[in-house]
Amino acid sequence: AIEGGPVLLVEGLRKSFGGVRAVDEVSLTLEAGTITGLIGPNGSGKTTVINLISGLERPDAGRILVAGRDLAGKRPDRIARAGIARTFQAVSLPEGATVLEAVAAARLERDRGVAAAEAHALWALERLGAADLALRPCADLPAALRRRVELARALARQPAVLLLDEPAAGLTDAEKAELAGHLRAIAAAGTALLVVEHDMGFLLPLAGHVLCLDQGRTLYDGPPAGVRSDAAVVAAYLGE
Ligand code: ADP
Repeated sequence: AIEGGPVLLVEGLRKSFGGVRAVDEVSLTLEAGTITGLIGPNGSGKTTVINLISGLERPDAGRILVAGRDLAGKRPDRIARAGIARTFQAVSLPEGATVLEAVAAARLERDRGVAAAEAHALWALERLGAADLALRPCADLPAALRRRVELARALARQPAVLLLDEPAAGLTDAEKAELAGHLRAIAAAGTALLVVEHDMGFLLPLAGHVLCLDQGRTLYDGPPAGVRSDAAVVAAYLGE
């Protein structure tokens, strides 16, 4: 694995909606080639952290440093160009497009023409074992394959940081095992992954580091092996 220094440094991130402190002084460091898990009960702020890092929401305070630049409050397209890609809990694909077109669309800004964009798209699909889907219409795909196409769209951007919002939701055990293998390979090639996930059986063997949020605050920040025996995590989340 290429493990070389922090690619994303988040410091003192805060965001309130009305009177609700959705994210309250969250700090995290993502290193190249590593997988970090982000867990916590519903409403604890996990998706908001991803939304803040990817620029969908503006932080009230905090720094989001990539290669020494503070991207906090920058627009999503600027943040994407800095090498941060994400997926969504609710997958949205261009239904009229084929899988290849949908993934290539994620490259069109950067590549000079359709042929180059499609080459990158095919590369991403191959890495996810999904090249055989290339000519299928997105509209025809079952949920698990839609998730895989969405991941291919993010991967095709060759991001330094990949933010995944519940990638295992709705997958069978076999599909989860396959996904875990793909995510390990993506990290091994140097990308830093931040994975929001409720499925501990999926996440804990995958992650090198885990953060648990509760009401926007960091309850746990440590190795996956310590998660299940942490009294605060059990009380706020795992015991629920
Ligand atoms: P999680 O992903 O851990 O389930 P969220 O980040 O979605 O939690 O939500 C954290 C808190 O912020 C919740 O109380 C939620 O209701 C609130 N929240 C999130 N997004 C918004 C929004 N756009 N407007 C108002 N409240 C929001």
